[in-house]
Amino acid sequence: MKIADKNTKAVDLVRAALEKAKACEEYHCFLSMNEARALEHAAEIDRKIAKGEPVGKLAGVPYALKDNYSSREGVTTAAAKMLDNFPAPVTATAVTRLEAEGAIMIGRTNLDAYAHGSSTENSYFGPTLNAYDKERVAGGSSGGSAVAVALGIVPFALGSDTGGSIRQPASFNGVYGIKPTYGTVSRYGVVAMASSTDTMGCFTNTPEDMSLIMDIMSGKDAKDSTTLDKFWQADLTKITAPKKKIGLIADFMGDGVNEEVKTCVKDYTKKLEQAGYTVEEVSMPILKYGLAIYYIVQPAEVASNLSRYDGIRYGFRAEDYTDLDSLYSKTRDEGFMPENKRRIMIGNFVLSSGFFDAYFLKAQKARTLLIDAYNKIFEDYDALLCPVAPAPSFKLGEKTNDPLAMYMEDVMSVPPSMAGLPAVSVPAGKTAAGLPVGAQLVGQRQNDQILLAIAKSVEEIA
Ligand code: GLN
Repeated sequence: MKIADKNTKAVDLVRAALEKAKACEEYHCFLSMNEARALEHAAEIDRKIAKGEPVGKLAGVPYALKDNYSSREGVTTAAAKMLDNFPAPVTATAVTRLEAEGAIMIGRTNLDAYAHGSSTENSYFGPTLNAYDKERVAGGSSGGSAVAVALGIVPFALGSDTGGSIRQPASFNGVYGIKPTYGTVSRYGVVAMASSTDTMGCFTNTPEDMSLIMDIMSGKDAKDSTTLDKFWQADLTKITAPKKKIGLIADFMGDGVNEEVKTCVKDYTKKLEQAGYTVEEVSMPILKYGLAIYYIVQPAEVASNLSRYDGIRYGFRAEDYTDLDSLYSKTRDEGFMPENKRRIMIGNFVLSSGFFDAYFLKAQKARTLLIDAYNKIFEDYDALLCPVAPAPSFKLGEKTNDPLAMYMEDVMSVPPSMAGLPAVSVPAGKTAAGLPVGAQLVGQRQNDQILLAIAKSVEEIA
């Protein structure tokens, strides 16, 4: 990652990123640009460097911010009509920490409204296009950030991942994407989706850059009681996988998985072996329940988190209401996308008396069994390997009328989310048609950097 110094001016780095963003407008990565402020910040950094004053580790590095992170700069929309013109009153802790090190936000990136989706087609402002094929989806929900890095507009971009929203778009656009251990990075100031599995991570072109960004963002935050004490190390070269053993999840390499995806994952397996790891097939039958667990727990939390958007407190309010009930219902009907409403309905159903025990409680029990199964398998392996998603990027519109087909996108990414585990999407190759395919490395809690060290050793032999 280029850091501004006496030879590389921060203003030039930021201007180049803004120009590239303009040249790539047709991809619709950005919902808004932060041009004037970004250039002001850059000029300030150049002044400090000229005077010999200390600057941060990311001085002058431009980045893109998923539009569900609050920042006092501009509006935070979550790609939802509900927050169409919302000037957030706070700045997310992750953003504050990056900016304290001199990183410069050039614009806000597109997502599925409220991060509900796997293609960025649920955005109120229209979809983002895939970096490799403009007729295909970017993946989602952090599609805009993934494409901004893939197109070379910025060296890193932030995303959020509740059930795959960083990993799947990383896979679809050929970049690295990390969903860290739950609690690694503060959720403060990020629009909540499902609070027990929301994690904040990033997209980069290399494991080293990823390690640097996550090191800066991670650690305890008094404003988010679920944050963990800092376990991230500054120097990735000091980290190695102790067992040198990786389990290839056989359950996700069978029927229903695209052949070219399987080939790419197998190729990655060979590279792991060349890099000195032993790879063995493992079976985890409980993984087949992951998607069902997720699509009960997650909508329940969504229903709860979205109840605050009522037209009274903040955000959009419908105009032609007649009484309080119609104010609520018209606001929520007009302000939410169909996918948001679907999740609110499912969530309230699984939480309702009479169904709570049968669905929500049962799903939480199954979630505990899933966590136990992972704990057991990690006694023998440093990491697990599987595809990120069952197939490469699909055509725009292909799954918009079939919510279940869209949910199937998440079948391999949601189990680590439900268990709070770190998972990294690594570029693993391309299909014959030139579409990128990612492989997923999953680790034990707080072993995030072991995954990055493994990815780095594969980069080194490639
Ligand atoms: N695609 C998943 C969903 O629709 C994950 C979304 C996310 O991680 N924010 O729920």
